[in-house]
Amino acid sequence: MNIVVCIKQVPGTTQVKINPDTGTLIRAGVEAVVNPFDEYAIEEALRIKERLGTCVIKVISMGPPQAEDVLKSAIAMGADEAYLVTDRAFAGSDTWATSYTLANAIKTLGKVDLIICGKQAIDGDTAQVGPGVAEMLGIPFVAWVRKVEDVSETQIRVERMMEDGYEVVDMPLPGLMTVVKEINVPRMASLKGKMRAKKTAVATINAEALKAADKEKIGLKGSPTQVLRSFVPQRKTGGEKMGGETGDLVNKIKSTILDLGVIR
Ligand SMILES: Cc1cc2nc3c(=O)[nH]c(=O)nc-3n(C[C@H](O)[C@H](O)[C@H](O)COP(=O)(O)OP(=O)(O)OC[C@H]3O[C@@H](n4cnc5c(N)ncnc54)[C@H](O)[C@@H]3O)c2cc1C
Repeated sequence: MNIVVCIKQVPGTTQVKINPDTGTLIRAGVEAVVNPFDEYAIEEALRIKERLGTCVIKVISMGPPQAEDVLKSAIAMGADEAYLVTDRAFAGSDTWATSYTLANAIKTLGKVDLIICGKQAIDGDTAQVGPGVAEMLGIPFVAWVRKVEDVSETQIRVERMMEDGYEVVDMPLPGLMTVVKEINVPRMASLKGKMRAKKTAVATINAEALKAADKEKIGLKGSPTQVLRSFVPQRKTGGEKMGGETGDLVNKIKSTILDLGVIR
């Protein structure tokens, strides 16, 4: 079985600043780490490998050259192969173009049975890339997986987290799942793993290598989203304190809401 885990490099801080001119993150000088949800994805791939015995785990990341570090971390945990999708032509990609590029990069990796992504990235936070990749590859996906109950070469049975419980879902493979933190406790990299990571070469995939991709659909020009302006919302102060009898209060609140024009 071939498992691909998508990993994103994210800033290891909440003090992220936005470039006011471009509306994109200022990444220079900020420590970068593996997106925490992707550590759960790597760990689950390793557990599936331990269960089935014969898996190859390939980790893939789209980002600048320094994203190689997060791929090395995944190798140190136990992943087998690492791929960095990197090219200036990919700069400025929104979630659509990122999904398109990653999907096309995954196509170059040969037969893939299962793709595992984190639930969301802690910087972009959209949770769109996993489902986007599945859609572009034309394979089924299941999001918010908290437990893998059973897995074979052709099918996976998972528990998918819901707001008020969980659902048991059978998904035929090839397919994609996104995982939540409840799924496992990621292992620490062993010393042997770290040594292996040092020696393992990370293969790069550039725009030229994406033979099946339409070059008009990558990078900024291939991104349907445009960031027009980026700003911190003004903090509203004050507010109105209401008092009185319950019946009067209900009427006051009702008329205030109607005045706001939110509900008719
Ligand atoms: C107009 C526009 C321009 C942008 N320009 C840039 C830019 O120049 N540089 C930049 O860094 N960002 C840029 N971004 C942000 C970038 O589009 C998102 O960070 C990216 O698409 C991932 O979305 P997300 O962070 O919401 O991930 P989510 O959808 O929340 O991530 C879910 C999961 O998908 C996988 N995943 C997500 N991203 C990657 C990745 N890159 N590689 C491998 N797996 C991944 C991981 O498993 C992750 O857990 C831009 C966004 C917009 C809207």
